[in-house]
Order: sequence, then structure tokens, then C-alpha cells
Amino acid sequence: MDYDYDVIVVGGGGAGMTAALVAHEAGASVMILEADGKLGGATWLSGGVIYAAGTSVQKKLGIEDTPQAMYDYIMTLNAWQTRPDIIRTFSERSAEAVEWMVSLGAEYEWVVKSGVDTVPRGHCTKGAGFTIGELLKNEVGAMGIETALNTRVERLLFENGRVCGVHADGVDLHAKAVVLTTGGLGNSPTMRAKYFPSAAQHGDIVYAVHDDAPFILGDGIKLGEQVGAEITGIDTGLVLPSAALVPNSVEAFLPPWMMLVNVDGHRFMPENAPYAVSGYLINEQPGARAYGIFDEKTLVEGSADKRFSDPYHTGEVSQTWDEDLIRKHVGTGRIKTADTLEEIADMCGINRLALRATAERYNADARNDVDTEWEKNAPRHFPIDEAPYFAVEVRASVIGQTSAGVDIDATTRVRDRNGATIPGLFAAGETVGCIQGKRYSGGGMGVGNALTFGRIAGEEVAKEVLANDPLPGLETA
Ligand SMILES: Cc1cc2nc3c(=O)[nH]c(=O)nc-3n(C[C@H](O)[C@H](O)[C@H](O)COP(=O)(O)OP(=O)(O)OC[C@H]3O[C@@H](n4cnc5c(N)ncnc54)[C@H](O)[C@@H]3O)c2cc1C
Repeated sequence: MDYDYDVIVVGGGGAGMTAALVAHEAGASVMILEADGKLGGATWLSGGVIYAAGTSVQKKLGIEDTPQAMYDYIMTLNAWQTRPDIIRTFSERSAEAVEWMVSLGAEYEWVVKSGVDTVPRGHCTKGAGFTIGELLKNEVGAMGIETALNTRVERLLFENGRVCGVHADGVDLHAKAVVLTTGGLGNSPTMRAKYFPSAAQHGDIVYAVHDDAPFILGDGIKLGEQVGAEITGIDTGLVLPSAALVPNSVEAFLPPWMMLVNVDGHRFMPENAPYAVSGYLINEQPGARAYGIFDEKTLVEGSADKRFSDPYHTGEVSQTWDEDLIRKHVGTGRIKTADTLEEIADMCGINRLALRATAERYNADARNDVDTEWEKNAPRHFPIDEAPYFAVEVRASVIGQTSAGVDIDATTRVRDRNGATIPGLFAAGETVGCIQGKRYSGGGMGVGNALTFGRIAGEEVAKEVLANDPLPGLETA
């Protein structure tokens, strides 16, 4: 067979460019096919936080950490409902992703606690995902790696028991191996309904942060399925809490100044809980919703402090929890207001007796500037005791990351429904289904996954296609 390339990479985002660069460096000829008119994907749009343990950046900042600690945390958070070999590999090699970015010119001033562990592991790339995307793109250009933009791969070629290329734009391109790095599925309502029903349940208000990357449509799943790939990680993506007051806005953090209750009138988490847990907790409440309750004084004084919305030091602040916007939505009826908490309860369908009891406990603590029950760590605790009162509905309706995708082994080889690897097919990044587990461990898991497993895919695919002793079905040139 005549091969056009050693390796074809499908999707030129973070994982794709990384895999291509590593495979190219090892000596393989590589082609990147990208559906969009530009490289970068969601990685380019991202906050640029990378989850990693044992990095030189942590060391410089005096943070003690080890891959074992990261492994233990992720496995425990997921109640062991995730694959140890994948999490072991991720934990042990995550630091390489950060060191590699540093070697390409990225800078890190902040490493933040982005999950619910005590160790800061969220490496905040200066300039966010834009920096990562640009550094990778420039490196791809500098290395002379061939790239075809506006080229959406529609089919995988499969011959002699092996994936041997792709079909795109009416053309067959042959390669000794293919790496799927097509990202998530957040922009496809059909794929969301099938693979992320707990997000899709919120109907019209569902929004994926991937919106500006138009081909984040789950193509990797469809391509993998054509050759028998196992699809795993169904309904395990990251959902972020949102009041949906600003259309299509990326919201990850709730303000600490309000009290959040479910329809039973009970609080169920510290209001500013990290998004590693907050969206999941809201989805688990009756009716998969919650209400943020506050009073007039809190609206004026609390909403003036925007620090809560930028824990990753990006310089961007939330628009949603702004006094003017909230008043506007009192006018549109989206936010309820009344002179008593009982009336607010009735308007929202909240148990009024429970809401009163919850507010009394909350207020008693707030007057002492503490939260003894849910241990909310806030710059200031506001009692809710001055009419008028307000209620805003909050749902976990923003998709931060999808996790359904093809199954792989720890070397990024795609597995079929029987658990065997599919010769010639590799995958990395958000299109892989077995990396995230049931819980998003913390800010940085998405980019961390893309870069870490992108590097592994690049190494492994190069090893395979450049081997002197070819695998069955793979002819040497
Ligand atoms: C606004 C935003 C903020 C985020 N912030 C963070 C953060 O700070 N930290 C974090 O860890 N995660 C974050 N995430 C998630 C993270 O960005 C992604 O999980 C990760 O970057 C995915 O990388 P990837 O390489 O797998 O996919 P992508 O970078 O999305 O790349 C996939 C590429 O494949 C292309 N493609 C798709 N289908 C085809 C096809 N059939 N043929 C050819 N090309 C195709 C797409 O056009 C795209 O360019 C954020 C996401 C967004 C959108």
C-alpha cells in the first residue's frame, strides 16, 4: 500500500497539535486535518489552566506535591469508579505537559487549588488558552508539519484489520496510523442528549463553553464507532452552575454572598463550592435546580465584590452577578422579588417552613460572620433580613467539558467493544471517554488531559509506525 503519511492526526486542537509535534520530532511524517478554519479548538478558547503534580512551577512556589498524591486524590474523588492505569499515567506524566509548555515559552505565576484537594495543582497559564494555542500553532508551523484546514474527516479507512487512513472532502488519504483528537461533543444537541443526558435535561438553556469552536460535535465518537470502538464515560462530563441571565456566558463560580437552597428549603453545599463539585450537587437536588436567595442590602453591597468570579487570575469578572443585571431581570420576571421569605418560597415552589428555618440558622451565623453548618469560606457573610428579598433560579446547565468518548489503553491505543486494541487507531484529549471519571477533579483536567495524553499518543504512534518490525497489517514503505 502507498501511504501518504506515517500518521494522520484528526483535529488540530491541544491534543492534536501536541501529538503531531511529538510524532514529528520522533521522525514520523505527519498530517493534521482540521475541520475549522484555524487550529486551536477548545484549547485555544480555554482558561489555560493545566492540572498537574510535581512540576518545577509548584516547586518554585514552595508547593509540595507528588504524582502519587494526585493519583490518590482523583481515585478517591471518583470513589474508584475510574481506571487506575489511566489515572496513574495521567498523574505521573502530567508534569511533563507543564514543563513542555514552559519550554515553549509559557509563564506561570499562579498555581491554584482548582479542585477539592488541599494541594494547589491548577497551573494558570499567563494569557490563558490563547497562549497555549498560539505556542502550539507556532511550533507546528516552525516544524513544517503539514496542516489542512477546513477539512472535516468523515470516515476512517480500514483494511487488513487495521485503520489505514481517513476520508475527507471526497479524498482518501492513507497513513500507517491515525490519531483521533477531535475534542468533545458539547455543541451537538443530539450527541448531548445521547451522551450527556444530565446536562441535556436543562433543555433550551443548555450552553457549552465550546460554542466558539464550531466542530466540537462528537465526531471522534462517530469515527471510532465506524471501526468498532467502545464508547465509555457516558454522562460524566463537567456541568457548571448558571443563572442563565447572560446568554451564552461561561460561568463557573457562584457568588459567596447569597444563600443557595433546594426546593425543599435546605442548603446542600457552601455556595462558593469549587466547580469540581458544585454543578453535580445542584443536579442531584430535587428538580435538578436550586435558588439563590438574598436581600436588598446584600444585592447592593455583596455584588460589588467581584473577586469570587476570577480565582484563576484571568482579569475577567462575572457579568451575571451584577447589581444592574439582577435588577433588570427582576423587571423581566426571571428573578423573583417579595417582601417576605414566605412569599418568595411560594413564588419558587420552595417549602416555606423549611426556608424560614434555614434562613434563621444562616442569619444567626452570618451575624457572627461565620457559616458553622456548611463552612462557607467567604470574605463576608451577609444575613438575609431586610426586605425586599430576591430569588434567582440556578441550574447546572453550562457544559464545561464532555467526557463520553472512545475507550483507550494507557498507551492511547483505542479499544474495541471486546476490550482489544484496534490496530492503527490512537486517541487523546476530550474525545477519550475513560480519562475523566465520574467527577471533574479540578480546573485544568481538560487541557492537562489533552497535553499529557497528546504527548503519549505522539510517542506511541511514532514508535509503532517507525518500528523495524511492523505489526500485522502494517506494511513498511
Ligand atoms: C471557554 C473554555 C474554557 C476552558 N477552560 C479550561 C481550563 O482552563 N482548563 C482545562 O483544563 N480545561 C478547560 N476547558 C476544557 C479544555 O479546553 C478542553 O477539554 C481541551 O482543551 C480539549 O482539547 P482537545 O485537544 O481534546 O480538543 P480541542 O482543543 O477542542 O480540539 C479539537 C479539534 O478537533 C477539530 N475537529 C473536530 N471534529 C473534526 C473532524 N471530524 N475532522 C477534523 N477536525 C475535527 C475541532 O475543530 C478542534 O479544532 C475549557 C474549555 C472552554 C471551551
